[in-house]
Amino acid sequence: MPATFDCIVLGLGGIGSATLAALARRGVRVLGIDRFSPPHEYGSSHGETRVIRRAYPEHPDYVPLVDRAFRQWRELESETGRELLTRTGLLLTGPRDGDTIDGSLRAAAQHQLDIVEIPRGETRERFPHLRFEGDEATIYEQDAGFLRVEDCVEANLEAAAAHGAEQKFGETVLNWSASEAGVRVNTDRGDYSAGRLIVTAGAWATRLLSDLGVPFTVRRKVLLWHPVDESARDAFASGPTYMFERAGGVFYGFPCLDGATVKLALHTGGEETTDPDQIDRQLHQSDVEPVANALVPRLAGVDPAPARHTVCMYTMSPDHNFIIDRHPRFPSVTLAAGLSGHGFKFAPTLAEALTHLSLEGRSDLPINFLSLARFAV
Ligand SMILES: Cc1cc2nc3c(=O)[nH]c(=O)nc-3n(C[C@H](O)[C@H](O)[C@H](O)COP(=O)(O)OP(=O)(O)OC[C@H]3O[C@@H](n4cnc5c(N)ncnc54)[C@H](O)[C@@H]3O)c2cc1C
Repeated sequence: MPATFDCIVLGLGGIGSATLAALARRGVRVLGIDRFSPPHEYGSSHGETRVIRRAYPEHPDYVPLVDRAFRQWRELESETGRELLTRTGLLLTGPRDGDTIDGSLRAAAQHQLDIVEIPRGETRERFPHLRFEGDEATIYEQDAGFLRVEDCVEANLEAAAAHGAEQKFGETVLNWSASEAGVRVNTDRGDYSAGRLIVTAGAWATRLLSDLGVPFTVRRKVLLWHPVDESARDAFASGPTYMFERAGGVFYGFPCLDGATVKLALHTGGEETTDPDQIDRQLHQSDVEPVANALVPRLAGVDPAPARHTVCMYTMSPDHNFIIDRHPRFPSVTLAAGLSGHGFKFAPTLAEALTHLSLEGRSDLPINFLSLARFAV
């Protein structure tokens, strides 16, 4: 007889770890399964930091969701005694009519967000380690900052365990099936049955949710840590998180957290891959060039040659918005997929929504725009 649970969470990365904690807090008898040992370097929730910000122009309902997430991350900090969210402010620079500036200003106006434009003279004075050009606009989102991504996953797993969740690491789910009686999950170590299943498998949704017929694509993304000259380290350590829209794409970077380097990356673009297990984890000159040529010249005292790197994955949905819904054919199966490179900040709120959908079949959170109904599946 397979071991039996109220609910199984498949995948314990950014979203799954938060979902496991949310279910366990509600007293659900829950099992979480991951093929690796989260936090790990093989999925989408690693690399030190994730930006958290409110100015979301893509859809008005993202803003109330991220508002709630800000509060929930602070609650997780209180629950676990960890520091997870650091408020640094976020500086956005780019063409006035570009997506970064224009989109953020539209979101700010619509939601009365605390975003101010900084006149050029003032940018140089306030941020001497950053370089601004020509007639670019610069705006500042005061309450934004970053999350310590691995610590967040650890904190959620710790909270889940404290509330009685069972966790299996290093165990791969081979397949799952659902019927009116519930779900069965078959792994490389055994079988489990449960009333419900929540699939939070990140890039592996391409395989585990292939029956949905949604054409997910996986993008290879490289994070680079560049050495900072001693003269600029203090300014980078106490400065904001920053994003520059340039002709070559949207680039971003974080404050100096280790006293020696800054983490830099290109948000847009990325080589597409079909199999997350075959992703190329080597660093190539073509990974470094865009950042070295377009972002590093805007940063004082930053070496164009990175000291280290890691490779991560964006799982893109066709419209780049998340999918949070019940499975159209199996109501006992709920899923989060296609987080499209911007989902981490929302993890506790998406976890709450997944918990509502799985246990009650509906949620009062504003998640209708994330439903599968927008695709013909
Ligand atoms: C470079 C980079 C920068 C980003 N920057 C930001 C940012 O600044 N702000 C932001 O909000 N978001 C950002 N994101 C996006 C965000 O990090 C992701 O949307 C989020 O982490 C995805 O979480 P997930 O739980 O869906 O996937 P993952 O964290 O990858 O979790 C999926 C888990 O499922 C497990 N799994 C898969 N298949 C199986 C199986 N068969 N059996 C058992 N376990 C399985 C995997 O081992 C993995 O642990 C960024 C992403 C990347 C890659």
